[in-house]
Amino acid sequence: MTADLHNLYQSVVLDHNKNPRNFGKPGDFSLTAEGFNPLCGDHYHVFVKKSSSDDSLETICFEGQGCAISKASASLMTQIMKGKNLTEFNDIFISFQKMVTGKGCDERSKELLGKLRVFEEVWKYPSRVKCAALPWHTLKAALSGTLSTTTEA
Ligand code: ZN
Repeated sequence: MTADLHNLYQSVVLDHNKNPRNFGKPGDFSLTAEGFNPLCGDHYHVFVKKSSSDDSLETICFEGQGCAISKASASLMTQIMKGKNLTEFNDIFISFQKMVTGKGCDERSKELLGKLRVFEEVWKYPSRVKCAALPWHTLKAALSGTLSTTTEA
């Protein structure tokens, strides 16, 4: 990766860390879960409201605290998943897991992941992989009706 691109990626993470999108508990939600990464101390709640007409995610918000990587991952996740349905969530979830664990990204995954590719090199820092993945596991837990999850499960 060129230095410029690296800086761009870093600035996306810093921006979302400083100004997380969809941050805070919404007044109306139907599903929630708590996620904890004891290795880093990242701790978040995710809140979801499904659309009444189909199974798309109408609202996704999060609150809590943790490192810049985990917070930026949660913030980008809420942006990207808004309006998506469960099938789309699973596709993106699997692609994201592959990317952050260094198992590679095919062209379709790259397209699906979009801005999430800021985490493309996270696999080089094994202690950070769980930070990036935590919000996703938390959202998955919420969608499956599990109330809490931890990266050490
Ligand atoms: Zn962390």
